[in-house]
Amino acid sequence: MSVPVLSVRDLSKVYGEGDARVHALRGVSLTVERGDYVAIMGASGSGKSTLMNILGCLDVPSSGRYLIEGTDVGSLDERRLAVLRNRKIGFVFQSFNLIPRMSALANVELPMAYGGVGAAERRARALAALERVGLADRVRHEPNELSGGQQQRVAVARALVTAPSLLLADEPTGNLDTASTRDVLEIFDELNVSGRTIVIITHEDDVAEHAKRVVRLVDGRIVDDRRQAPAEGAPPRARTPEVPA
Ligand code: ADP
Ligand code: MG
Repeated sequence: MSVPVLSVRDLSKVYGEGDARVHALRGVSLTVERGDYVAIMGASGSGKSTLMNILGCLDVPSSGRYLIEGTDVGSLDERRLAVLRNRKIGFVFQSFNLIPRMSALANVELPMAYGGVGAAERRARALAALERVGLADRVRHEPNELSGGQQQRVAVARALVTAPSLLLADEPTGNLDTASTRDVLEIFDELNVSGRTIVIITHEDDVAEHAKRVVRLVDGRIVDDRRQAPAEGAPPRARTPEVPA
């Protein structure tokens, strides 16, 4: 079998010291194979964002091991870690995190600025990514000239443009209305069908329904991890290798 996109073993995360210590994660192990579509669910405070920040190499665990495509993240220095993050992971956040007063196109070009991609190719790839999310006619607009749903689609294009191994999304529809939520989830579904690996964090059942696999966190522990049948009206699925026991 191919190397998993990500594999974490016995992760723990402790914030603070003394009386203020919080065990945000308590021994989390998780393997995600290429092409999978995983929803991580749990109540507020259960450790979802902590896990997402570690999976995204934005934070380090207190203990445990994390491999991205076989590379042990803990063995990398800051510079190599930044390169790995830039190449392998695309992020989508609840609050979009676009740069104000920069066009949609410039926002999507940004992650390629450090990747040694020439200007013409940057432009072509950014345009293709914006087209993919249905925003070909909005590329010159700035974030404040776009609806929330459109801004999030720009953020998805930005996450995609580097062709990352993993798309990580933390409550990506948390600030969106029903129609925009549907648009964004439809794009995620299509991306997964075309082979992208997606990990989405959500506390909403109807968002998690789109995933192939649902992992539930309670108090920093995984209490459930199961595959689910496709949702009604979901696009046909690409074959995914089963997760080893
Ligand atoms: P979720 O995203 O599921 O709501 P979080 O991962 O944000 O949960 O938080 C898990 C626990 O860790 C919570 O009890 C939270 O208060 C605590 N926590 C999160 N971030 C910090 C931090 N930077 N410092 C101290 N405690 C934190
Ligand atoms: Mg959170």
